[in-house]
Amino acid sequence: MIKLYNTLTREKEEFKPICPGKAGMYTCGPTVYWFAHIGNMRAYLFEDFLKRVLRYNGYQVKHVINLTDVGHLTSDDDTGEDKLEKGARRDNKTVWEVADFYAQAFKRDLKLLNFQEPDVWIKATDTIKEQIELIKVLEQKGFVYIIADGVYFDSSKLPSYGKLWPNKEMDLKAGARVEMAEGKKNLTDFALWKFSPKEGPKRQMEWESPWGIGFPGWHTECVVMSIENLGIPFDIHCGGIDHILIHHTNEIAQAEAAYGKDMCNYWMHGEFLVLKDEAKMAKSAGTVVLVEDLIKKGINPLAYRYLVMTAHYRKKMEFSWESLQSAQTGLDNLYEKFLEFKQAKKIGVPFGQKAEEYKNKFLEAINDDLNMPQALAVAWEVVKDKKLASSEKYYLLLDFDKIFGLNLDKAERKTEEEVPENIKKLLEERQTARQTKDWTKSDEIRKQIQTLGWDVEDTPEGQKARKL
Ligand code: AMP
Ligand code: ZN
Repeated sequence: MIKLYNTLTREKEEFKPICPGKAGMYTCGPTVYWFAHIGNMRAYLFEDFLKRVLRYNGYQVKHVINLTDVGHLTSDDDTGEDKLEKGARRDNKTVWEVADFYAQAFKRDLKLLNFQEPDVWIKATDTIKEQIELIKVLEQKGFVYIIADGVYFDSSKLPSYGKLWPNKEMDLKAGARVEMAEGKKNLTDFALWKFSPKEGPKRQMEWESPWGIGFPGWHTECVVMSIENLGIPFDIHCGGIDHILIHHTNEIAQAEAAYGKDMCNYWMHGEFLVLKDEAKMAKSAGTVVLVEDLIKKGINPLAYRYLVMTAHYRKKMEFSWESLQSAQTGLDNLYEKFLEFKQAKKIGVPFGQKAEEYKNKFLEAINDDLNMPQALAVAWEVVKDKKLASSEKYYLLLDFDKIFGLNLDKAERKTEEEVPENIKKLLEERQTARQTKDWTKSDEIRKQIQTLGWDVEDTPEGQKARKL
Protein backbone atom coordinates (compact mmCIF):
# COMPACT_ATOMS: atom_id res chain seq x y z
CA MET A 1 0.00 0.00 0.00
CA ILE A 2 1.38 3.41 -1.01
CA LYS A 3 0.45 6.40 1.09
CA LEU A 4 0.69 9.86 -0.42
CA TYR A 5 -0.01 13.25 1.08
CA ASN A 6 -2.84 14.90 -0.79
CA THR A 7 -2.88 18.71 -0.63
CA LEU A 8 -6.58 18.57 -1.48
CA THR A 9 -7.60 16.62 1.64
CA ARG A 10 -4.62 17.65 3.77
CA GLU A 11 -4.08 14.01 4.64
CA LYS A 12 -1.86 11.09 3.85
CA GLU A 13 -4.08 8.80 1.82
CA GLU A 14 -3.79 5.34 0.38
CA PHE A 15 -3.11 5.64 -3.34
CA LYS A 16 -6.05 4.17 -5.23
CA PRO A 17 -5.55 4.36 -8.98
CA ILE A 18 -8.39 5.02 -11.40
CA CYS A 19 -7.33 2.06 -13.54
CA PRO A 20 -6.03 -0.95 -11.57
CA GLY A 21 -2.28 -1.33 -12.03
CA LYS A 22 -1.90 1.98 -13.83
CA ALA A 23 -1.02 5.48 -12.70
CA GLY A 24 -1.23 8.71 -14.66
CA MET A 25 0.77 11.67 -13.44
CA TYR A 26 1.19 15.21 -14.68
CA THR A 27 4.07 17.48 -13.84
CA CYS A 28 3.97 21.22 -14.42
CA GLY A 29 7.13 21.59 -16.46
CA PRO A 30 9.58 24.44 -16.85
CA THR A 31 8.93 27.80 -18.40
CA VAL A 32 11.63 27.62 -21.01
CA TYR A 33 12.90 31.20 -20.98
CA TRP A 34 15.98 30.44 -18.92
CA PHE A 35 17.87 27.58 -17.30
CA ALA A 36 16.11 25.60 -14.58
CA HIS A 37 17.94 26.06 -11.27
CA ILE A 38 18.60 23.41 -8.63
CA GLY A 39 15.53 24.62 -6.69
CA ASN A 40 13.37 23.75 -9.70
CA MET A 41 15.28 20.49 -9.90
CA ARG A 42 14.28 19.67 -6.33
CA ALA A 43 10.63 19.81 -7.43
CA TYR A 44 11.31 17.59 -10.45
CA LEU A 45 13.36 15.20 -8.30
CA PHE A 46 10.50 14.65 -5.90
CA GLU A 47 8.35 13.82 -8.92
CA ASP A 48 11.02 11.45 -10.25
CA PHE A 49 11.11 9.66 -6.89
CA LEU A 50 7.32 9.44 -6.95
CA LYS A 51 7.37 7.89 -10.41
CA ARG A 52 10.06 5.41 -9.39
CA VAL A 53 8.11 4.44 -6.26
CA LEU A 54 4.97 3.81 -8.28
CA ARG A 55 6.94 1.69 -10.77
CA TYR A 56 8.72 -0.18 -7.96
CA ASN A 57 5.26 -1.12 -6.67
CA GLY A 58 4.37 -2.54 -10.06
CA TYR A 59 2.34 0.32 -11.49
CA GLN A 60 2.50 1.07 -15.17
CA VAL A 61 3.08 4.81 -15.05
CA LYS A 62 2.28 7.33 -17.74
CA HIS A 63 4.13 10.50 -16.88
CA VAL A 64 3.29 13.66 -18.77
CA ILE A 65 5.39 16.79 -18.49
CA ASN A 66 4.85 20.05 -20.31
CA LEU A 67 7.11 22.77 -21.59
CA THR A 68 5.62 26.20 -20.98
CA ASP A 69 6.69 28.11 -24.06
CA VAL A 70 4.04 30.84 -24.01
CA GLY A 71 1.65 32.58 -21.62
CA HIS A 72 3.59 32.49 -18.34
CA LEU A 73 3.74 36.14 -17.32
CA THR A 74 6.36 37.77 -15.15
CA SER A 75 3.64 38.59 -12.64
CA ASP A 76 0.95 36.32 -11.22
CA ASP A 77 -1.64 39.07 -11.45
CA ASP A 78 -2.00 38.70 -15.23
CA THR A 79 -0.45 42.10 -15.86
CA GLY A 80 3.24 41.29 -16.44
CA GLU A 81 5.10 40.50 -19.61
CA ASP A 82 5.33 37.07 -21.22
CA LYS A 83 8.55 35.51 -19.88
CA LEU A 84 9.37 34.04 -23.30
CA GLU A 85 9.02 37.35 -25.14
CA LYS A 86 11.22 38.99 -22.52
CA GLY A 87 13.76 36.17 -22.78
CA ALA A 88 13.88 36.57 -26.55
CA ARG A 89 14.77 40.25 -26.25
CA ARG A 90 17.41 39.47 -23.63
CA ASP A 91 19.04 36.76 -25.76
CA ASN A 92 18.45 38.57 -29.06
CA LYS A 93 16.79 35.48 -30.51
CA THR A 94 13.30 34.52 -31.63
CA VAL A 95 10.97 33.17 -28.95
CA TRP A 96 11.00 29.84 -30.73
CA GLU A 97 14.78 29.68 -30.58
CA VAL A 98 14.76 30.63 -26.90
CA ALA A 99 12.14 27.97 -26.09
CA ASP A 100 14.05 25.33 -28.00
CA PHE A 101 17.41 26.25 -26.46
CA TYR A 102 16.22 26.13 -22.85
CA ALA A 103 14.10 23.03 -23.43
CA GLN A 104 17.24 21.24 -24.63
CA ALA A 105 19.19 22.58 -21.65
CA PHE A 106 16.47 21.29 -19.32
CA LYS A 107 16.53 17.83 -20.90
CA ARG A 108 20.30 17.74 -20.59
CA ASP A 109 20.04 18.60 -16.88
CA LEU A 110 17.48 15.83 -16.37
CA LYS A 111 19.94 13.36 -17.88
CA LEU A 112 22.77 14.61 -15.66
CA LEU A 113 20.57 14.06 -12.63
CA ASN A 114 19.57 10.62 -13.92
CA PHE A 115 15.83 11.25 -14.25
CA GLN A 116 13.64 8.63 -15.78
CA GLU A 117 12.50 10.16 -19.05
CA PRO A 118 8.82 11.28 -19.01
CA ASP A 119 6.55 9.28 -21.32
CA VAL A 120 5.04 12.37 -22.91
CA TRP A 121 6.61 15.76 -23.49
CA ILE A 122 4.16 18.39 -24.60
CA LYS A 123 4.56 22.03 -25.54
CA ALA A 124 1.91 24.64 -24.73
CA THR A 125 2.17 26.05 -28.26
CA ASP A 126 1.19 22.66 -29.70
CA THR A 127 -2.25 22.78 -28.06
CA ILE A 128 -3.49 26.30 -28.86
CA LYS A 129 -6.50 24.98 -30.81
CA GLU A 130 -7.58 22.77 -27.89
CA GLN A 131 -7.12 25.64 -25.45
CA ILE A 132 -9.41 27.85 -27.52
CA GLU A 133 -11.97 25.00 -27.50
CA LEU A 134 -11.80 24.82 -23.69
CA ILE A 135 -12.35 28.59 -23.36
CA LYS A 136 -15.32 28.31 -25.73
CA VAL A 137 -16.87 25.68 -23.44
CA LEU A 138 -16.28 27.90 -20.41
CA GLU A 139 -17.89 30.78 -22.30
CA GLN A 140 -20.93 28.69 -23.21
CA LYS A 141 -21.31 27.74 -19.56
CA GLY A 142 -21.24 31.39 -18.47
CA PHE A 143 -17.89 31.48 -16.64
CA VAL A 144 -16.25 34.03 -18.89
CA TYR A 145 -16.20 37.81 -19.38
CA ILE A 146 -14.16 39.98 -21.67
CA ILE A 147 -12.31 43.15 -20.74
CA ALA A 148 -9.82 45.37 -22.55
CA ASP A 149 -6.79 43.13 -22.14
CA GLY A 150 -8.31 39.70 -22.43
CA VAL A 151 -10.84 36.98 -21.67
CA TYR A 152 -11.24 36.28 -17.97
CA PHE A 153 -12.58 33.50 -15.77
CA ASP A 154 -15.19 34.68 -13.26
CA SER A 155 -14.16 32.89 -10.07
CA SER A 156 -17.30 34.05 -8.21
CA LYS A 157 -19.38 31.78 -10.47
CA LEU A 158 -17.73 28.63 -9.11
CA PRO A 159 -18.68 27.85 -5.48
CA SER A 160 -15.81 25.39 -5.08
CA TYR A 161 -13.18 27.96 -6.12
CA GLY A 162 -10.11 27.77 -3.86
CA LYS A 163 -10.74 24.23 -2.61
CA LEU A 164 -7.02 23.46 -2.74
CA TRP A 165 -6.24 26.19 -0.26
CA PRO A 166 -5.32 24.85 3.15
CA ASN A 167 -6.77 27.92 4.85
CA LYS A 168 -9.44 29.54 2.77
CA GLU A 169 -9.68 32.82 4.70
CA MET A 170 -5.96 33.42 4.84
CA ASP A 171 -5.22 32.15 1.38
CA LEU A 172 -7.86 34.30 -0.19
CA LYS A 173 -5.72 37.27 0.80
CA ALA A 174 -2.45 35.65 -0.21
CA GLY A 175 -3.83 34.12 -3.38
CA ALA A 176 -5.50 37.29 -4.46
CA ARG A 177 -3.47 39.24 -6.91
CA VAL A 178 -2.32 42.55 -5.52
CA GLU A 179 -2.77 44.44 -8.74
CA MET A 180 -5.92 44.11 -10.77
CA ALA A 181 -6.21 44.47 -14.49
CA GLU A 182 -8.72 47.21 -15.17
CA GLY A 183 -12.22 45.80 -15.41
CA LYS A 184 -11.49 42.59 -13.52
CA LYS A 185 -14.52 41.73 -11.42
CA ASN A 186 -12.94 39.77 -8.57
CA LEU A 187 -9.42 39.67 -7.21
CA THR A 188 -9.16 35.96 -7.89
CA ASP A 189 -10.36 36.10 -11.51
CA PHE A 190 -7.68 35.14 -14.00
CA ALA A 191 -6.91 35.45 -17.69
CA LEU A 192 -7.83 32.59 -20.02
CA TRP A 193 -6.78 34.43 -23.16
CA LYS A 194 -4.79 37.63 -23.32
CA PHE A 195 -4.99 40.03 -26.26
CA SER A 196 -1.72 41.03 -27.89
CA PRO A 197 -0.87 44.48 -26.53
CA LYS A 198 -1.62 47.33 -28.93
CA GLU A 199 1.37 49.29 -27.69
CA GLY A 200 4.99 48.38 -27.02
CA PRO A 201 7.03 45.72 -28.84
CA LYS A 202 5.03 43.45 -31.16
CA ARG A 203 4.61 39.94 -29.80
CA GLN A 204 6.33 37.15 -31.72
CA MET A 205 3.86 34.51 -30.58
CA GLU A 206 0.19 35.23 -31.18
CA TRP A 207 -2.81 33.42 -32.61
CA GLU A 208 -6.27 34.19 -33.98
CA SER A 209 -9.15 33.38 -31.65
CA PRO A 210 -12.91 34.07 -31.58
CA TRP A 211 -12.18 36.91 -29.12
CA GLY A 212 -9.21 38.54 -30.83
CA ILE A 213 -5.54 37.98 -31.63
CA GLY A 214 -3.54 36.98 -28.59
CA PHE A 215 -2.21 34.08 -26.57
CA PRO A 216 -3.47 31.68 -23.88
CA GLY A 217 -3.16 32.03 -20.11
CA TRP A 218 -0.69 29.74 -18.36
CA HIS A 219 -3.35 28.01 -16.22
CA THR A 220 -5.44 27.10 -19.28
CA GLU A 221 -2.47 25.43 -20.92
CA CYS A 222 -1.89 22.92 -18.14
CA VAL A 223 -5.57 21.92 -17.96
CA VAL A 224 -5.55 21.05 -21.65
CA MET A 225 -2.16 19.34 -21.75
CA SER A 226 -2.90 17.14 -18.74
CA ILE A 227 -6.47 16.13 -19.61
CA GLU A 228 -5.70 15.58 -23.32
CA ASN A 229 -3.08 13.03 -22.33
CA LEU A 230 -4.47 11.49 -19.17
CA GLY A 231 -8.24 11.95 -19.32
CA ILE A 232 -10.42 13.43 -16.57
CA PRO A 233 -10.16 12.73 -13.75
CA PHE A 234 -6.58 11.50 -13.73
CA ASP A 235 -4.52 10.20 -10.84
CA ILE A 236 -1.78 12.59 -9.72
CA HIS A 237 -0.91 16.20 -10.45
CA CYS A 238 2.29 17.61 -8.98
CA GLY A 239 4.39 20.72 -8.73
CA GLY A 240 6.09 23.00 -6.24
CA ILE A 241 4.14 24.50 -3.32
CA ASP A 242 4.12 27.93 -4.93
CA HIS A 243 1.59 26.55 -7.42
CA ILE A 244 -1.08 25.82 -4.81
CA LEU A 245 -2.54 29.28 -4.39
CA ILE A 246 -2.80 30.41 -7.98
CA HIS A 247 -1.73 28.09 -10.78
CA HIS A 248 -3.23 24.82 -9.56
CA THR A 249 -6.23 26.54 -8.00
CA ASN A 250 -7.00 28.05 -11.38
CA GLU A 251 -6.44 24.77 -13.21
CA ILE A 252 -8.97 23.07 -10.94
CA ALA A 253 -11.46 25.90 -11.42
CA GLN A 254 -11.44 25.60 -15.22
CA ALA A 255 -11.60 21.82 -15.26
CA GLU A 256 -14.51 21.72 -12.80
CA ALA A 257 -16.35 24.53 -14.58
CA ALA A 258 -15.91 22.97 -18.03
CA TYR A 259 -16.37 19.28 -17.26
CA GLY A 260 -18.34 19.32 -14.00
CA LYS A 261 -15.85 16.78 -12.59
CA ASP A 262 -12.85 16.65 -10.31
CA MET A 263 -9.73 17.23 -12.38
CA CYS A 264 -7.53 14.76 -10.59
CA ASN A 265 -7.52 12.69 -7.40
CA TYR A 266 -4.18 13.48 -5.77
CA TRP A 267 -2.51 16.87 -5.73
CA MET A 268 1.07 16.67 -4.52
CA HIS A 269 3.43 19.55 -3.82
CA GLY A 270 7.11 19.73 -3.07
CA GLU A 271 8.56 22.24 -0.60
CA PHE A 272 11.16 24.77 -1.62
CA LEU A 273 14.90 24.72 -1.64
CA VAL A 274 16.07 27.87 0.07
CA LEU A 275 19.43 29.51 0.40
CA LYS A 276 20.91 29.94 3.85
CA ASP A 277 20.25 33.47 5.14
CA GLU A 278 18.45 34.38 1.98
CA ALA A 279 15.04 34.18 0.47
CA LYS A 280 14.05 31.25 -1.72
CA MET A 281 16.14 30.40 -4.69
CA ALA A 282 14.54 32.52 -7.38
CA LYS A 283 15.50 33.39 -10.91
CA SER A 284 14.06 36.87 -10.51
CA ALA A 285 16.18 37.57 -7.40
CA GLY A 286 19.32 36.39 -9.18
CA THR A 287 20.06 33.98 -6.34
CA VAL A 288 20.29 30.78 -8.27
CA VAL A 289 22.58 27.81 -8.71
CA LEU A 290 22.43 25.77 -11.91
CA VAL A 291 23.30 22.13 -12.50
CA GLU A 292 26.10 23.46 -14.68
CA ASP A 293 27.53 25.30 -11.65
CA LEU A 294 27.82 22.00 -9.77
CA ILE A 295 29.87 20.52 -12.57
CA LYS A 296 32.09 23.60 -12.76
CA LYS A 297 32.89 23.08 -9.09
CA GLY A 298 33.82 19.46 -9.70
CA ILE A 299 30.68 18.11 -7.99
CA ASN A 300 28.91 15.08 -9.36
CA PRO A 301 25.30 16.19 -10.14
CA LEU A 302 24.17 12.94 -8.52
CA ALA A 303 25.53 14.30 -5.23
CA TYR A 304 22.73 16.85 -5.50
CA ARG A 305 20.29 13.99 -5.99
CA TYR A 306 21.73 12.42 -2.85
CA LEU A 307 21.40 15.71 -0.96
CA VAL A 308 17.74 16.06 -1.95
CA MET A 309 17.09 12.56 -0.58
CA THR A 310 18.30 13.61 2.85
CA ALA A 311 15.20 15.78 3.43
CA HIS A 312 11.55 14.86 3.10
CA TYR A 313 9.96 16.47 0.05
CA ARG A 314 7.41 18.31 2.20
CA LYS A 315 10.09 19.93 4.34
CA LYS A 316 11.88 23.11 3.42
CA MET A 317 15.50 22.40 2.58
CA GLU A 318 18.34 24.80 3.14
CA PHE A 319 21.03 24.69 0.50
CA SER A 320 24.68 25.32 1.23
CA TRP A 321 27.85 24.29 -0.57
CA GLU A 322 28.99 22.59 2.64
CA SER A 323 25.91 20.39 2.75
CA LEU A 324 26.42 19.53 -0.91
CA GLN A 325 30.04 18.67 -0.22
CA SER A 326 28.91 16.33 2.59
CA ALA A 327 26.41 14.74 0.22
CA GLN A 328 29.22 14.19 -2.28
CA THR A 329 31.25 12.48 0.44
CA GLY A 330 28.24 10.35 1.41
CA LEU A 331 27.71 9.35 -2.19
CA ASP A 332 31.39 8.54 -2.75
CA ASN A 333 31.37 6.38 0.39
CA LEU A 334 28.30 4.55 -0.83
CA TYR A 335 29.95 3.92 -4.21
CA GLU A 336 33.03 2.67 -2.41
CA LYS A 337 31.04 0.25 -0.25
CA PHE A 338 28.96 -0.94 -3.17
CA LEU A 339 32.13 -1.76 -5.13
CA GLU A 340 33.49 -3.68 -2.14
CA PHE A 341 30.32 -5.80 -1.97
CA LYS A 342 30.32 -6.27 -5.73
CA GLN A 343 33.87 -7.60 -5.66
CA ALA A 344 33.25 -9.88 -2.67
CA LYS A 345 29.88 -11.27 -3.75
CA LYS A 346 29.60 -14.96 -4.52
CA ILE A 347 27.12 -16.62 -6.83
CA GLY A 348 24.39 -18.71 -5.23
CA VAL A 349 24.30 -17.06 -1.78
CA PRO A 350 20.65 -17.23 -0.66
CA PHE A 351 18.74 -14.11 0.30
CA GLY A 352 18.30 -14.57 4.06
CA GLN A 353 15.52 -13.48 6.36
CA LYS A 354 17.45 -10.46 7.56
CA ALA A 355 17.86 -9.26 3.99
CA GLU A 356 14.12 -9.72 3.41
CA GLU A 357 13.45 -7.65 6.51
CA TYR A 358 15.57 -4.83 5.13
CA LYS A 359 13.72 -5.01 1.84
CA ASN A 360 10.43 -4.65 3.68
CA LYS A 361 11.73 -1.82 5.80
CA PHE A 362 12.85 -0.01 2.69
CA LEU A 363 9.49 -0.55 0.99
CA GLU A 364 7.71 0.73 4.07
CA ALA A 365 9.79 3.91 3.99
CA ILE A 366 9.28 4.75 0.32
CA ASN A 367 5.58 3.86 0.47
CA ASP A 368 5.10 6.15 3.43
CA ASP A 369 4.67 9.32 1.40
CA LEU A 370 8.13 8.94 -0.15
CA ASN A 371 10.18 8.96 3.01
CA MET A 372 13.51 9.12 1.24
CA PRO A 373 15.62 10.09 4.28
CA GLN A 374 14.38 6.92 5.98
CA ALA A 375 15.01 4.85 2.84
CA LEU A 376 18.56 6.19 2.70
CA ALA A 377 19.03 5.35 6.38
CA VAL A 378 17.95 1.75 5.64
CA ALA A 379 20.57 1.56 2.87
CA TRP A 380 23.27 2.61 5.34
CA GLU A 381 22.02 0.08 7.91
CA VAL A 382 22.46 -2.57 5.22
CA VAL A 383 25.99 -1.35 4.50
CA LYS A 384 26.95 -1.54 8.17
CA ASP A 385 25.19 -4.76 9.14
CA LYS A 386 27.88 -7.34 9.91
CA LYS A 387 25.39 -10.21 9.78
CA LEU A 388 24.60 -9.76 6.10
CA ALA A 389 26.69 -11.39 3.38
CA SER A 390 28.32 -9.15 0.77
CA SER A 391 26.11 -10.71 -1.90
CA GLU A 392 23.00 -9.79 0.05
CA LYS A 393 24.25 -6.26 0.53
CA TYR A 394 25.10 -5.97 -3.14
CA TYR A 395 21.68 -7.11 -4.34
CA LEU A 396 19.82 -5.04 -1.75
CA LEU A 397 21.64 -1.85 -2.71
CA LEU A 398 21.19 -2.58 -6.39
CA ASP A 399 17.47 -2.97 -5.74
CA PHE A 400 17.24 0.23 -3.67
CA ASP A 401 18.96 2.12 -6.45
CA LYS A 402 15.86 1.62 -8.62
CA ILE A 403 14.44 4.35 -6.38
CA PHE A 404 17.58 6.32 -5.54
CA GLY A 405 18.78 6.58 -9.13
CA LEU A 406 22.38 7.08 -8.00
CA ASN A 407 23.82 4.86 -10.72
CA LEU A 408 25.45 2.51 -8.23
CA ASP A 409 25.94 -0.09 -10.95
CA LYS A 410 28.12 2.39 -12.85
CA ALA A 411 30.28 3.24 -9.83
CA GLU A 412 34.00 3.17 -10.41
CA ARG A 413 36.82 3.33 -7.94
CA LYS A 414 37.94 6.93 -7.60
CA THR A 415 41.52 7.56 -8.51
CA GLU A 416 43.03 10.71 -7.10
CA GLU A 417 44.09 12.98 -9.91
CA GLU A 418 47.86 13.55 -9.96
CA VAL A 419 48.52 17.22 -9.12
CA PRO A 420 50.91 18.64 -11.75
CA GLU A 421 54.21 20.21 -10.71
CA ASN A 422 53.26 23.81 -11.57
CA ILE A 423 50.13 23.57 -9.38
CA LYS A 424 52.16 22.00 -6.56
CA LYS A 425 54.56 24.95 -6.72
CA LEU A 426 51.70 27.46 -6.54
CA LEU A 427 50.24 25.56 -3.58
CA GLU A 428 53.52 25.88 -1.74
CA GLU A 429 53.64 29.62 -2.44
CA ARG A 430 50.08 29.97 -1.22
CA GLN A 431 50.94 28.04 1.90
CA THR A 432 53.74 30.49 2.66
CA ALA A 433 51.44 33.45 2.00
CA ARG A 434 48.87 32.03 4.39
CA GLN A 435 51.48 31.40 7.07
CA THR A 436 52.42 35.09 6.92
CA LYS A 437 48.71 35.99 6.88
CA ASP A 438 49.03 37.64 3.47
CA TRP A 439 45.42 36.88 2.47
CA THR A 440 45.50 39.10 -0.62
CA LYS A 441 48.41 37.13 -2.02
CA SER A 442 46.78 33.87 -1.02
CA ASP A 443 43.63 34.87 -2.96
CA GLU A 444 45.65 35.95 -5.95
CA ILE A 445 47.45 32.61 -6.09
CA ARG A 446 44.14 30.83 -5.78
CA LYS A 447 42.83 32.73 -8.81
CA GLN A 448 45.99 31.81 -10.68
CA ILE A 449 45.42 28.15 -9.80
CA GLN A 450 41.84 28.44 -11.04
CA THR A 451 42.90 29.88 -14.36
CA LEU A 452 45.00 26.73 -14.77
CA GLY A 453 41.90 24.56 -14.42
CA TRP A 454 42.38 23.60 -10.76
CA ASP A 455 40.93 24.75 -7.48
CA VAL A 456 42.11 24.66 -3.93
CA GLU A 457 40.15 23.96 -0.81
CA ASP A 458 41.31 24.70 2.72
CA THR A 459 40.55 21.69 4.87
CA PRO A 460 41.55 20.88 8.47
CA GLU A 461 44.24 18.66 6.92
CA GLY A 462 45.61 21.54 4.86
CA GLN A 463 45.23 22.61 1.23
CA LYS A 464 43.56 20.19 -1.13
CA ALA A 465 43.79 20.68 -4.87
CA ARG A 466 41.27 19.30 -7.30
CA LYS A 467 40.59 19.64 -10.98
CA LEU A 468 37.78 22.01 -12.01
P1 AMP B 1 8.87 27.44 -13.00
O1 AMP B 1 9.80 27.17 -14.16
O2 AMP B 1 9.14 28.76 -12.31
O3 AMP B 1 7.42 27.25 -13.36
O4 AMP B 1 9.22 26.35 -11.87
C1 AMP B 1 9.33 24.99 -12.16
C2 AMP B 1 9.06 24.16 -10.92
O5 AMP B 1 10.01 24.43 -9.88
C3 AMP B 1 7.71 24.41 -10.28
O6 AMP B 1 7.15 23.18 -9.87
C4 AMP B 1 8.02 25.30 -9.10
O7 AMP B 1 7.05 25.16 -8.09
C5 AMP B 1 9.34 24.72 -8.66
N1 AMP B 1 10.22 25.64 -7.92
C6 AMP B 1 10.53 26.93 -8.20
N2 AMP B 1 11.44 27.42 -7.32
C7 AMP B 1 11.72 26.43 -6.45
C8 AMP B 1 12.59 26.29 -5.31
N3 AMP B 1 13.36 27.28 -4.89
N4 AMP B 1 12.60 25.11 -4.66
C9 AMP B 1 11.83 24.08 -5.07
N5 AMP B 1 11.00 24.12 -6.14
C10 AMP B 1 10.94 25.27 -6.83
ZN1 ZN C 1 1.04 23.76 -14.74
